[in-house]
Amino acid sequence: MSVKQTQRRPFFCGNWKLNGNIAESVELATQVRNGVATWRDVDVAVAPSFLAVHAVARRLEGGPVAVAGQNCFWEDKGAFTGEVSAPQLVEAGCKYVIIGHSERRQLFGELDAAVNMKSRAALRAGLTPIICVGETLAERDAGETLGRIQAQVDAAIKDISDDDLARTLIAYEPVWAIGTGRNATPAQAEEVHRFIRGRIGTRGAQVAAAIRILYGGSVKPDNIGELLAQEDVDGGLVGGASLSAPSFVQVIQAAHGLQAAHGAAATPAKG
Ligand code: PEP
Repeated sequence: MSVKQTQRRPFFCGNWKLNGNIAESVELATQVRNGVATWRDVDVAVAPSFLAVHAVARRLEGGPVAVAGQNCFWEDKGAFTGEVSAPQLVEAGCKYVIIGHSERRQLFGELDAAVNMKSRAALRAGLTPIICVGETLAERDAGETLGRIQAQVDAAIKDISDDDLARTLIAYEPVWAIGTGRNATPAQAEEVHRFIRGRIGTRGAQVAAAIRILYGGSVKPDNIGELLAQEDVDGGLVGGASLSAPSFVQVIQAAHGLQAAHGAAATPAKG
């Protein structure tokens, strides 16, 4: 495996989606924390369902694993029945929030403009957004992958300052690879990650060099190594494989192993 020349610190977030009751979520979080407790070269977060966020955050307080929300609304408060705001996530103990996951886009009609407003609300509240982008299989087959990604990225980062953008995370998640067991090949992933970094580069080389771009879509312990070896893949947003602590910890270990093997003193992230 080739040695990557990056100072970007690897990042992994487990997306638990609508799985686990409060006790199960706290237990899973505890096992993840224990599994990564001694690793100081990787950033790790877990995203429980909303009702478990506070209990999980209390269990993880002061430790190496952070908590992420799976979504947030763009207004801070008001008559918006059923919504959860970014300041509420902060109060509950979140440091990150996933925005624009393809399940939100496809099942709940979330549009690019909403992804932008939610990302800005998250940043205003002090959260780091993990902005998801990705093409459908039909778009890939029609040769529209990069065009779709460009539209999603450009819309999502509109009116976000360069400083905020540098601490934002972007997750490339091809829709056809999420929960299907079919991951993008390392070359397919790298092509899109490099393209995204190029789009961010229109804001300046420093922002592009700093921003971390995660891959998501059927990440497992046996495929993460070759994905991470790609120059522009800085970690993963992990669904199914994060529902078992041993497999999620094994995925994260691939990054820890790489860092350790290469003696890379990755700089701590700003966010
Ligand atoms: C996800 O939900 O963001 C995801 C990538 O899921 P999975 O790893 O199960 O494909």
